[in-house]
Amino acid sequence: MSIKDGKLYIVGIGPGHPDLMTVAAQQAILKSEYVIGNTTYLDQIEPLLPGRKVITSSMGEEIARARHALELASRGKTVSIISGGDAGVYGMAGIVLEIAEKDGAGADAKMDVEVDADTRIQVIPGVTAANSAASILGSPITSDFATISLSDLLTPWEDIEKRIAGAAASDFVIVLYNPKSRNRNTNFGRCIEIVRRYRSGSVPVGLVKNAFRDVERAVVTTLERALDYDDFVDMHTTAIIGNSESRIWGERIITPRGYHRKYDY
Ligand code: SAH
Repeated sequence: MSIKDGKLYIVGIGPGHPDLMTVAAQQAILKSEYVIGNTTYLDQIEPLLPGRKVITSSMGEEIARARHALELASRGKTVSIISGGDAGVYGMAGIVLEIAEKDGAGADAKMDVEVDADTRIQVIPGVTAANSAASILGSPITSDFATISLSDLLTPWEDIEKRIAGAAASDFVIVLYNPKSRNRNTNFGRCIEIVRRYRSGSVPVGLVKNAFRDVERAVVTTLERALDYDDFVDMHTTAIIGNSESRIWGERIITPRGYHRKYDY
């Protein structure tokens, strides 16, 4: 498979509000003859869809979706495949590039050749859920942070537990993606219990549900009280656990960058 004449954009559309989609993401979609994505994300970019051929696909069909996009591009089409947030963060960029690598498509996108506007597979960055949730909470990720997905669909749970413990032990701020789903109701609770072994109960925790969507909700609480909000946390929630220096200011979380160690202010 070669996509010599076609073009494939892998587009991150941000958290859900059009204002938080980049201009580059909009331009890529508007330049595309085909737009491929799941219905949740396509609904979020509806105003950009008229005039384009829209291919909807379901959650769990990522491999078929990626292959379909590559096939269209290989037939000379300009195609956008859509991810929420950033396509490289638990999104479509990985699987599309893996399949392209396997099938030998789009080899000109490799980094040992100059990557320019002509690169045939192009990842367009987007505003991540971590960035979106953090902005609503204040400045919780202003120091080093680790993101961990609690979804054990594609990663063994033992590995996830090791990463939680490692991040907690090294005092990273921790951003949790996929804290729950219909079949994985206990992962968030198990994660909080692990972090509690390493961190004081007074450490701030922010929970942001549906950031920058109509039904946005946010809670600021502490590690020892986080599980009081277990029912609030769902698959549309990003949770941020502060580090040992994070503090609550009103309804916000501040993680100091470290200026206080060097300056008087
Ligand atoms: N590529 C996406 C992440 C996809 S994984 C990104 O860069 O943001 C899906 C998880 O992202 C969800 O389970 C949730 O934890 C988080 N998420 C995505 N959109 C969100 C939003 N608008 N508000 C809060 N969390 C969100």
